[in-house]
Amino acid sequence: MLKGKTAVVTGSTSGIGLGCARAFAAEGVNVVINGLGDAGEIEATRAAIETDFGVRCIYSPANMLNGEEIAGMIEMAEKELGSVDILVNNAGIQHVSPVEDFPINKWDAIIAINLSSAFHAIRAAVPGMKKRGWGRIINTASAHALVASPYKSAYVAAKHGIAGLTKTVALEVAESGITVNAICPGYVWTPLVEAQIPDTMKARNMTEEEVKRDVLLKAQPTKKFVSIEQVAGYAVFLCSDTASSITGSILPIDGGWTAQ
Ligand code: NAD
Repeated sequence: MLKGKTAVVTGSTSGIGLGCARAFAAEGVNVVINGLGDAGEIEATRAAIETDFGVRCIYSPANMLNGEEIAGMIEMAEKELGSVDILVNNAGIQHVSPVEDFPINKWDAIIAINLSSAFHAIRAAVPGMKKRGWGRIINTASAHALVASPYKSAYVAAKHGIAGLTKTVALEVAESGITVNAICPGYVWTPLVEAQIPDTMKARNMTEEEVKRDVLLKAQPTKKFVSIEQVAGYAVFLCSDTASSITGSILPIDGGWTAQ
């Protein structure tokens, strides 16, 4: 049912975004991937999506710090691939620091990339979706859209903000065949999480297994990471007809984290 549609997935050169892009491509969806990284690696990622799934895949270098570049990415997708039917606002960064020491430039960047970029992309994509009477907007939020952790003020503020944006836009477009939802993963094993392990091992004098279980997965009752495939599968489900009454929802996929 999704075959031939177009998806734009921000922050899809690695991790959850790349998983979503590949999951949509597996359904026959043409995709625009976006994100930072080595040019050669990005081209290999892009080409692999085309050869693995027989769809078109275009890379957009739009920087999620820049509203004009984001609008340009949506315009390019509509021009090159005919439409933007599915928009996954996924790009995100993290910085961990007590609030009184939190670098101002990190605060600004996290709010811009994790929150404002979704506003810019939604603003640009909604008119086309309304015209076609169909659209799916999925924001990758986080368990931190529902609960807080210390030292993550900007991230938690941005993710709570994404929840508010999700609900508001869902109400505005509810009669236009467009759904807007936020997926809220707990810890997912991605480069963003993997990168935190060596420093934490050193700082806490722990083994890798201890860091995973007693630090990262401390709040996650299943004591298992959520997989990229599980998050991507959730995103594909939200684009199905079965999910067409799910809108304005803030949806945890977090191994029980926010049940506590
Ligand atoms: P990741 O680091 O693997 O991917 C982040 C993506 O965002 C990359 O493609 C990166 O290039 C891109 N990006 C960063 N800054 C950018 C910019 N200025 N312009 C364009 N692209 C930019 O991380 P991930 O874990 O896959 O995270 C993806 C999303 O999932 C984020 O919004 C994150 O907050 C959220 N999330 C992750 C977890 C987790 O445990 N990994 C849990 C909950 C939510």
